[in-house]
Amino acid sequence: MLYDFDTDLDKLLSEYDYCVCGSGPSGMSVATTLVNAGKKVIILEGGGKQYSDRSQSLYESKSSVAGFNGYYSLTGTRARYLGGTSNFWSGRCKPFLEYEFSRSPGGDLPGWPITFKDMNDYLEPAMRIVDLDPEKGFTDPYDARLSTDNIEPDVFQPSPPTRFAQKYQDFMENNPGVHTFVNANVTELEVGEKGRISAVTVKSYDGQVASVKAKHFILAMGAIENARILLLSDSVYPKGVGNEHDMVGRCFMEHYNVKMGEFIPNPEYWEGREIASFYTTEKFVKEDNIGAANLHMWILGDAGSDQGGRLGPLRYMIQDFSCHFDLTDKLQWLLKHKCGGTGVITTLTEQIPNKDSRVTLLDDVDELGMRKINLHWDMNAFDARTIRTQAIRLAKDVAELKIGRVKLPEYITDESVAIDSMAHAHHIGTTRMAAEAKHGVVDSNAKVFGVDNLHVAGPSVFSTGGGGNPTMPGIQLALRLADHLLATETA
Ligand SMILES: Cc1cc2nc3c(=O)[nH]c(=O)nc-3n(C[C@H](O)[C@H](O)[C@H](O)COP(=O)(O)OP(=O)(O)OC[C@H]3O[C@@H](n4cnc5c(N)ncnc54)[C@H](O)[C@@H]3O)c2cc1C
Repeated sequence: MLYDFDTDLDKLLSEYDYCVCGSGPSGMSVATTLVNAGKKVIILEGGGKQYSDRSQSLYESKSSVAGFNGYYSLTGTRARYLGGTSNFWSGRCKPFLEYEFSRSPGGDLPGWPITFKDMNDYLEPAMRIVDLDPEKGFTDPYDARLSTDNIEPDVFQPSPPTRFAQKYQDFMENNPGVHTFVNANVTELEVGEKGRISAVTVKSYDGQVASVKAKHFILAMGAIENARILLLSDSVYPKGVGNEHDMVGRCFMEHYNVKMGEFIPNPEYWEGREIASFYTTEKFVKEDNIGAANLHMWILGDAGSDQGGRLGPLRYMIQDFSCHFDLTDKLQWLLKHKCGGTGVITTLTEQIPNKDSRVTLLDDVDELGMRKINLHWDMNAFDARTIRTQAIRLAKDVAELKIGRVKLPEYITDESVAIDSMAHAHHIGTTRMAAEAKHGVVDSNAKVFGVDNLHVAGPSVFSTGGGGNPTMPGIQLALRLADHLLATETA
């Protein structure tokens, strides 16, 4: 049943089996599994059924970057209404590869506490959720000739892209096992006896406030808000819930979107093509001890016409930036820019877990009285070396494969020049999974350390980011979490 927290508070039950906070891909995947198993579930969605400036503005806050030249948009990289950021996403799906999942990430933090099989067991159901055919798998590279010791042709699948509010509309409106409330902003976790969460405080925009009770709570509000709610729920634990080791909010990971160079295409290869997409090999990543990446070669086109491809997030970022700084007229040319005959190399490069890359609370509060955050996106020396190593190796391989000649930017060849990087709107980490509380926020079952009835769903629990897109693996883990909850019969 689909309700509004402003007008339908009388429909609220005195207690639910499970309370899922957030209605994006991660929350919806947990909720549908629990409801299908006969559990009574409430989904709390802070936004409305449609986009509104009022809800979206609750995502406005501060961001800063270090170690590179860049800018981070907190509103342009996520959507705050029913279905979450699936309303904006492009649908590119790629599972973790075994080598990138199983290796140590570099730096002073351990990798995943679960096995590749634990994750991969949920690939097929996750593919069905994003409307991909599991029969097709991820084994069919578009051009198998493009292989070297360092790069291989990329394999991915495009989801339609699935919009979760539309896909699960009938489920939300007609399934009596689920109560979905829109305009239901979770503003605090209420800590009860024995450190368990007894309820969440929920506020509407028109002054309704209620405590929603459940036996179990699942945070699925995206990596930034999951960390924010844990940090600001400080009435019993002054450092926030699950934050005994000061790990909540740390290890925020993105995928670096770096222009690694321009290239002159070899017409023999590029006739009739616009893109060649590669992935780093296991040999390259392990021997050079670097992060993984998708590396894309594009023949330059009209960025403004690209609604769904990798330039989509870039376009949103530019639009957001231009509106923010009142530069819309001056930047119009960028959205229409063409450079016939040349190409550009962009990336989706893994960021390793780095404690300095983090979400922290500010003293400023938003309209609902919630403390705002600062997102500090930090590129460390490991990541800078990853980017430069990948660029130089790719340039060499592109020449050897005879598909083009690459001109590298100065920030690749000169280490004293700061690297330029954009983001990919991939919010990862902040409540990372670890075997021990000193290295993360959730355990291998995605349970918040020290709190028996609080779990986290989505890419915020990733121990490492990998070089692929995060949403489908986030769904894999959400499904694994739902199975764990059902198997342990805790509700
Ligand atoms: C332009 C763009 C393109 C993208 N393309 C891709 C792609 O091709 N492939 C890919 O894998 N990923 C892509 N992504 C990323 C993808 O959208 C996210 O990884 C995915 O949506 C994360 O799902 P989630 O459910 O964890 O979080 P979200 O989808 O962000 O959902 C969080 C939900 O929580 C709600 N919420 C927030 N705060 C509160 C609160 N206080 N109380 C109650 N509810 C709250 C929000 O309204 C939202 O509904 C893209 C993102 C953008 C912006």
